[in-house]
Amino acid sequence: MLIDAHCHLDFPDFDADREAMFERARAVGVGHFVVPGTTRKRWPDVLALGEREDVSVCLGLHPYFMAQHRESDLNALEGALAQHPELVAVGECGIDARFPETLETQWRLFDAQLRLAKAYELPVVIHCVRANDQVAKRLRQLALPCGGLIHAFAGSPEQAQRFIDLGFVAGLGGAVTHDRAKRLHRAVAALTDDGYVLETDSPDMPLAGHRGKRNEPARVKEVCRIVAELRGQSVERVADNSTATARRLFRL
Ligand SMILES: [Zn+2]
Repeated sequence: MLIDAHCHLDFPDFDADREAMFERARAVGVGHFVVPGTTRKRWPDVLALGEREDVSVCLGLHPYFMAQHRESDLNALEGALAQHPELVAVGECGIDARFPETLETQWRLFDAQLRLAKAYELPVVIHCVRANDQVAKRLRQLALPCGGLIHAFAGSPEQAQRFIDLGFVAGLGGAVTHDRAKRLHRAVAALTDDGYVLETDSPDMPLAGHRGKRNEPARVKEVCRIVAELRGQSVERVADNSTATARRLFRL
């Protein structure tokens, strides 16, 4: 069985055909889904999805939606962590350096969420864009007990290894399917067998050949095929390794 370790199935993009989307995924062997929360307003929908057997959920404050976050959301997050033992991680949280005007607040929110992950002994689901070195440095200082996922990893082999040494794994998705991503391809080839999981980030991050279209979890199968090709391993081996790593990380 394949696992989509990161997909936003609560987004309204799926309101019209959510059941059919799950069915298409199941039909190609994608049987479990990890859905992260992005804003406090979206958390109830995420928690509702988490009532499904085949969905695991986590809650966080995503750096892309800074304008929607309020200071009180951090208290609400702590309350939710205390109240919902089914949460498998803290996130999605992180740093997106494409938005320098909010970077200071991004770091404050990210730091607070890392501390919550530490206090509740949960892994962290991290969104990290153009900030791999700074984030790795902060993670080293904090020494989180349960590591986490660097979702949509897009860095060098050295950056990947540094995250793995800190107890994190790389999330591999649409980005690896693009021919021009040569540095990322080298990183994928060099990862240890237990250093990565497969994901789609649906509805975002379209695969090569699907530009402009809504992404969905069934495409994990295609990601698996390409990762296998890049690593010179069988599709079965990549499926087994990535599924085992997702289970270990999120205690599924
Ligand atoms: Zn995401």
